[in-house]
Amino acid sequence: MSAVRTGTVVDVGIPAVRTAPATTGRPDVPELVDSFGRIARDLRVSITEKCSLRCTYCMPAEGLPAVPARQLLTADEIVRLVGVAVHRLGVREVRFTGGEPLMRRDLETIVAGCAAAVPGIPLSMTTNAVGLEHRADALARAGLTRINVSLDTVDRAHFAELTRRDRLSSVLAGIRAAQDAGLAPLKINAVLMAETLDGAADLLQWCLDSGCALRFIEQMPLDADHEWARENMVDAQTLLAVLGERFELQEVGREDPSAPAEEWLVNGGPATVGIIASVTRSFCGDCDRTRLTAEGTVRSCLFSDREVDLRDALRSGADDEELAQLWRAAMWDKWAGHGINAAGFVPPQRSMGAIGG
Ligand code: SAM
Ligand code: SF4
Repeated sequence: MSAVRTGTVVDVGIPAVRTAPATTGRPDVPELVDSFGRIARDLRVSITEKCSLRCTYCMPAEGLPAVPARQLLTADEIVRLVGVAVHRLGVREVRFTGGEPLMRRDLETIVAGCAAAVPGIPLSMTTNAVGLEHRADALARAGLTRINVSLDTVDRAHFAELTRRDRLSSVLAGIRAAQDAGLAPLKINAVLMAETLDGAADLLQWCLDSGCALRFIEQMPLDADHEWARENMVDAQTLLAVLGERFELQEVGREDPSAPAEEWLVNGGPATVGIIASVTRSFCGDCDRTRLTAEGTVRSCLFSDREVDLRDALRSGADDEELAQLWRAAMWDKWAGHGINAAGFVPPQRSMGAIGG
């Protein structure tokens, strides 16, 4: 595998990238199996570290250091690697993320290229929806199938405080445009924090009125400022108590074992609210994700900085099977779990916006 380089250092703040780890004991199967028996079929592709917002639980106020353009995967490279993931590694679902995917002008080209390369595979995007109102139609036409919008509050002042930008009206316009473009059902993700707890019931009511499915996510230690503290974290139980004061909630569980959200029927249904209790009820044992960073490294777990570089291999002429082998080796090395609750836990070097959530 002469195409593989060692010791590349990427600039987003980020770990030295290694060559492929050993695959001792790995069964000779095409899929992305790990040594704990999990199979990754859900691919998250980060396409940029840039963002139009500065959510306090994710980005530093000044944003992440810009990555030189030549270090980012090009649209063609992304399409090629998505093709490798689907055709050689058994990936069945692809989600674009970042940073903010809408910051890339060639997002429509990336989506259209992937739609042609992997027909029939759901292509979705996680976005903050700033500016989406001008692009939702084109993205739907390019082949995007679904959108998750991150929205923590529908109170303008509170939104501006949490995201350090006064852009709520653009987000709401983006959500409406996505619905009009047929990108439905639209899911809303809200990070659970002490600051968002008071507005949680209002947000749920807004989602019920707007036909959006809401899911709350427990805040993880992935903020660039490293201010997360276990004792300040708002957990799923606290949220349920707050929502229970306004809504009747009935637990219905998970859609399938690898779905991170546990669902509750709201006021007898059919609407539900989900909670992704990543910290207090970790679902690492059923994790089926694999991640590609914007610089083209495979990341097997949000919390593991052990990354394997595909970009340099690709640029040095590796063929699809060589790329697939590197990806398989990276995933065989996946950790059992994030270990947030263990004594001595150390957060990863990359923050959420630099990984791709
Ligand atoms: N900019 C896009 C957005 O906000 O949807 C995509 C990237 S963002 C990093 C992806 C998801 O990660 C968002 O839903 C965001 O709320 C979530 N997120 C960011 N930081 C987080 C943290 N510290 N804990 C839990 N979720 C986080
Ligand atoms: Fe940007 Fe998304 Fe991070 Fe907010 S959560 S700062 S919108 S990347």
